[in-house]
Amino acid sequence: MSRVFWFRRDLRLNDNPALNAAIRCSVTDGDSKVAPIYALDLDYFYALSGIRQHSLVASLDALGASMGRMLAIRHASVDLGVTVANAIVSAAQKANAQTVHATRAFDPAGVAEQNAVGVALAEVGIFLDLTGSYYAVDPGAVGKPDGSPYKVYTPFFKRWFELGWSKPEALAEVGHKWIIAEPCQGRPTPSKDSPFEIKAGEAYALRTWERFKKRALFSYDEMRNRADVSGTSHLSHALAFGEIHPRTLLAELADSPGHNVFRKEIAWREFYADVLWRNPHTTTEYYEPRFADMRYDTGAEAEARFEAWKAGKTGYPMVDAGMRQLMTTGWMHNRVRMIVASFLVKDLHLEWQRGAAWFEECLTDFDPASNAHGWQWTAGCGTDASPYYRVFNPILQGYKFDPRGDYVRKYVPELAHIWDDGIHEPWNRLDGLIHGYPAPIVDHSVERDDALARLAEIKVLKAEFPEK
Ligand SMILES: Cc1cc2nc3c(=O)[nH]c(=O)nc-3n(C[C@H](O)[C@H](O)[C@H](O)COP(=O)(O)OP(=O)(O)OC[C@H]3O[C@@H](n4cnc5c(N)ncnc54)[C@H](O)[C@@H]3O)c2cc1C
Repeated sequence: MSRVFWFRRDLRLNDNPALNAAIRCSVTDGDSKVAPIYALDLDYFYALSGIRQHSLVASLDALGASMGRMLAIRHASVDLGVTVANAIVSAAQKANAQTVHATRAFDPAGVAEQNAVGVALAEVGIFLDLTGSYYAVDPGAVGKPDGSPYKVYTPFFKRWFELGWSKPEALAEVGHKWIIAEPCQGRPTPSKDSPFEIKAGEAYALRTWERFKKRALFSYDEMRNRADVSGTSHLSHALAFGEIHPRTLLAELADSPGHNVFRKEIAWREFYADVLWRNPHTTTEYYEPRFADMRYDTGAEAEARFEAWKAGKTGYPMVDAGMRQLMTTGWMHNRVRMIVASFLVKDLHLEWQRGAAWFEECLTDFDPASNAHGWQWTAGCGTDASPYYRVFNPILQGYKFDPRGDYVRKYVPELAHIWDDGIHEPWNRLDGLIHGYPAPIVDHSVERDDALARLAEIKVLKAEFPEK
């Protein structure tokens, strides 16, 4: 009997326990044949931005190449009348397999998908064997001694670190053979353009990690917040698609300020996965339900402001540089993600879910847990100590995290003629708006007070309202 391996958000060969389980089982109690399959929901694919479409295609191409083109991509869509579950069942039957192996997902969409696949397989007598996860420590495993979950990050981190994780494991080389159970339908042709060629895949992720270790890991604690320098790993796409597992990164970290802070950032990803696993409704609903009662803006003016935010035309250079970085690269610096998210919720008074949906469409590193809870944290309605009354000031954040204006100049060409930090307040200069850059669409200090007034209405009281 052959085994089928269903690739999901684990597009790599090494340090992939579920894949190794498929390989080992195929050798110990089968015919040593493993049929790798990736089932692609075309309806979801074509709804993505051009950069996201191209990035998934690049990841699949790289995976296929790394296994000698022995990856069968199978299509699912409403038009074809084929679901992901149908595609997996069909491949398993063609492979004459009794077991399909895959990595266990913990996010609501992933869980729903694996449940549907598991049920469909069971109906035809085939078993779905789920192993491992996309995390060093599985969501749900870190809890207080009484079994209850941690609601704040720091104690979660402490326990997560105590629990630890296994060592990375290379691809099992035990004499298995890849087979194609059903012909590959090919990777889809993106329906939208990407402004640049996207590099992806396991080998690229490992090279990116090697470069980051030499380039910036040692100073990560000091430089990771600077938007104008490349002080972070840029591994989020690879982690989101599972081209590298966090275990591989954690295994190489030592005890130094840069390494320790990097470990803590990896743990944020694990914390949010844990929070979403325990609170699946928070993909789209408020973690702190009282924030659903807050006054948010609606109507034509609110819509026009939302469009300006998406297009990077709010008149606030740090916000606009971030939104344009997102559109032109499919990635945005973490500090700037917080600035633009705070601006959407607290300056434009729009609900966080709207921004999160736009990020999902555009971010090549889109991750259901990190996105929903990154938004909720910044909006002040999520976990941990980032209360709503901390309103990010986009001007001060610019002076602090883009002190020479390099970041803004790079992404906002209408301001590229300004060569000092006055770039963060172009409306104060005679030459500031001469190249068509817009005046601010709102007055930050007025909107900040308004945001705090709305907060008072839902009775989240606090004596001090510090500007960040
Ligand atoms: C509003 C908002 C939305 C976000 N949406 C996503 C998302 O969809 N996908 C995503 O991967 N990250 C998201 N993040 C977290 C963070 O911005 C990105 O992980 C980070 O910018 C990726 O760049 P990097 O790989 O260079 O990160 P590095 O600084 O090099 O960090 C290494 C890895 O740690 C993890 N990490 C770092 N910071 C965070 C964080 N604050 N929360 C969770 N994980 C973190 C990521 O996996 C990252 O790749 C979001 C943050 C905010 C504020």
